Amino acid sequence: MAEVILTADRTLMSNYHNNEFLGFGTCAPPNFIPEWLYSYLFFPPLKTKSGHPKQAPYGLRKTEAQLLKEGFHVETVSPKYLGKYLPNAKVLGIHTMDPFGLGPASTTLASIFKKEPYLAKHFQSLLTSPAIKKAKQNGLKVIVGGPGAWQFRYREKAVHDLGIDCVVEGEAENIIGKIFKAAIEGEPILSHYEVGIGEAPTLEEIPDIVSPSVNGLVELGRGCCRGCQFCNVTLRPLRWYPLEKINRELSVNIAAGYTGTCIHAEDVMLYGSNNTTPNDEKLLALHELVTKKVTGLSWSHCSVAAVASKPKLLAKLSELILQNQTWWGAEVGIETGSSEIAKKIMPAKAHPFSADNWHDVVVEGMGVMHDNMLAPACTLIVGLPEEQESDVLKTMELVDDLKDMRSLIVPLFFVPLGKLKSEDWFTDTQLSEVHKQLLIACAEHDFHWIDNLLDLSFTGKWYSQISKEFYKGFSAIAKRKVRQIE
Ligand code: SF4
Repeated sequence: MAEVILTADRTLMSNYHNNEFLGFGTCAPPNFIPEWLYSYLFFPPLKTKSGHPKQAPYGLRKTEAQLLKEGFHVETVSPKYLGKYLPNAKVLGIHTMDPFGLGPASTTLASIFKKEPYLAKHFQSLLTSPAIKKAKQNGLKVIVGGPGAWQFRYREKAVHDLGIDCVVEGEAENIIGKIFKAAIEGEPILSHYEVGIGEAPTLEEIPDIVSPSVNGLVELGRGCCRGCQFCNVTLRPLRWYPLEKINRELSVNIAAGYTGTCIHAEDVMLYGSNNTTPNDEKLLALHELVTKKVTGLSWSHCSVAAVASKPKLLAKLSELILQNQTWWGAEVGIETGSSEIAKKIMPAKAHPFSADNWHDVVVEGMGVMHDNMLAPACTLIVGLPEEQESDVLKTMELVDDLKDMRSLIVPLFFVPLGKLKSEDWFTDTQLSEVHKQLLIACAEHDFHWIDNLLDLSFTGKWYSQISKEFYKGFSAIAKRKVRQIE
């Protein structure tokens, strides 16, 4: 049995029915759907073999790969089987995305429903589970990391209350081995370790995953050059993986029988580019490689500006992708319809165009996506610092101009991150009448498109038809509830 066990709570140990977008369901609080049914619909547990999940979150797989590279005896285990593995372990590493529900999507939903979201509930119930409590009494050390580690800066007491020995924040490849070694040997470790920019790994220092990731996700690179003030990612250096590395990670998932992938970057359209102009040659080579190897592909994120700047390139990529599927998805940050706000807090988000034309850049980029069957889940930020009523009205105009474009538009309350981390949080008590109208306009947009997106998402197998009807039923109930509020 291993000295190091890695895990994540059950909202992360799921493949969301092979649809990353359904993972957004973990941000919602318990609601009108019974918990057992909601959990099945949005985050069914992964299959396991002797307690080992057949897939695991990509970030957890990277930690696993790094620790294996350094010679640790590591096993990744489903949270349900910790009782079997922890009695022999010295350290438990836990991956987290949103441990207290402070991420933008969960804060927004928690404010509206006035309840703690599922992901926070499951993170905390994992940490307080009898298996972990018992192992803690026997000296187990608990180390928590992942994209949600920043939230512990706002919940310092929870580190102690939940029995956590160390929180690791940032890209940890170069320091994680030292921390786990110190924990195993009983040496003192910091309760919160923030990885400095100088400690971030170079491309050569980032190991390949050695076991399959959830939904075949593979990274294309790290960092972003757009510098939006509300974003943590922008503080990291930009690095793109060579095709050989991406190919090796795809092969790990394919060897385990997974035929789909989600390629992950802050802007997939900028793969291989060191500025805000897409590199045709690199993007085409990437998609030729990926579409030959897998039969289903999605993008994690892309920008409207990059798409609007190269419509012919997107058409060529679409041709490659649609050989195997009828559409594909990506998350897209629109954030605002106001050029004034765009100029202040995200001037480079419109590059190579000017932020003065942000509204038109968004409409143009979204139109190109619609024509090429790229269906985005778009985010808007509500309550940005210095936002005026006129800015919110401009965002409503933009939402109206996007009504014919296949997409979801999700309004999120402002969360102070990145260069704006000392600003105030936005809460539901600050929601003005125009904010409420904006939220309703987004809900109406989404209800207009949801059935079309479900039809595209659930095709083929007979059980897909049944699942589709379930989600349509859920959407119809949600629609009725929202219209009652209106
Ligand atoms: S484009 Fe996205 S990832 Fe890049 S800085 Fe802006 S919000 Fe962050």
